[in-house]
Amino acid sequence: MGTVVSIEADAPEAALARAFGWFREVEAVCSRFDETSPLRQLPVGVATPASPILFEAVRFALKVAEQTQGAFDPTLGSHMAGRGYRRHYVTGAISDAPGAPEANFRDVVLDEDRRTILLKRSLTLDLGAVAKGLAVDAAARELQPFRDFCIDAGGDLYCGGKNRSGEPWSVGIRHPRERNELMDRLRVSDCAVCTSGDYERGAHIIDPRDTAATCGLASATVVAPTAMLADALATAAFVLGPEQGIALLDRMGVEGLLITPDLARHQTAGFGHA
Ligand code: ADP
Ligand code: MG
Repeated sequence: MGTVVSIEADAPEAALARAFGWFREVEAVCSRFDETSPLRQLPVGVATPASPILFEAVRFALKVAEQTQGAFDPTLGSHMAGRGYRRHYVTGAISDAPGAPEANFRDVVLDEDRRTILLKRSLTLDLGAVAKGLAVDAAARELQPFRDFCIDAGGDLYCGGKNRSGEPWSVGIRHPRERNELMDRLRVSDCAVCTSGDYERGAHIIDPRDTAATCGLASATVVAPTAMLADALATAAFVLGPEQGIALLDRMGVEGLLITPDLARHQTAGFGHA
């Protein structure tokens, strides 16, 4: 996933290996950059059975797309590729990403009973905003029996239980402009904290309503029960900007902090009172 994953836990080697394994597994299934991945193998016009990982990821992403009226959209693969995001981070290979320009999330149809995915027209799915969160949650399930642990996947965290001093985990929220400074610090237990920022990989979140790079926020941090939810909503809030972003977080019952490029803070009422 192009990021460093670190896990702090007092758990047997085998459990840690299983936890780390999920990152490879989810990537193998959901990568847009690998033309042999199950995600890239979905044909157009044929309802195709999907593995549990792929089905869950797509189902969840479509739900967020509906809840944000398409500000969040998991069918932006060809637009992302058009903006230059098309190189596999390990192999360096360039992949194309077919897609009708007007394709959107309504062109993806799921059958809950048969667990199939149907692409109604040519498009390339991009699960970049949910895959990391999904992997973090799967890793967290492996470590749950050992209670106290923290998983950090480059800006997507899940903290279980307490830290070594027996206190809630302390999570720093990076200053979006000063490399070594923090904007805030949170105390959390049994929840996820995910941040989308414009400083990590440039303008890599796009507004599907005009497919331009968004610029209303410098960073969006969301605190939620699962990393998949926090990850996706951070991306969605990033697209929506400060006012609509906070309204979305309120509606979804999660907490968050949105920071604009001029460093103004917008936060939900319960943020920081975990
Ligand atoms: P990071 O990968 O740095 O943690 P995010 O979690 O915010 O960042 O996810 C950014 C990724 O989300 C992009 O690389 C792309 O794959 C995807 N994406 C970009 N714009 C959108 C959007 N409007 N809706 C859904 N996914 C998006
Ligand atoms: Mg995200």
